[in-house]
Amino acid sequence: MEKPKLEKFWSPSRGNGLRALASLRPGELLFRSEPLAYTVCKESLGVVCERCLCRYGANLLTCVCPGM
Ligand SMILES: [Zn+2]
Repeated sequence: MEKPKLEKFWSPSRGNGLRALASLRPGELLFRSEPLAYTVCKESLGVVCERCLCRYGANLLTCVCPGM
């Protein structure tokens, strides 16, 4: 198992935090998690499905994605 590059910590003045334990490269993936919530940005409204975020075209009205 790879050594963790981040650790959670708690600060009395700032609360919960996350800090690096090793040198990090630009663009390196540090953390991945399922989103708690999401929304479609203004530029993508009507271009992507608002449920699964798949790109279908300019006039998408309903989700037609398999499994939805
Ligand atoms: Zn969809």
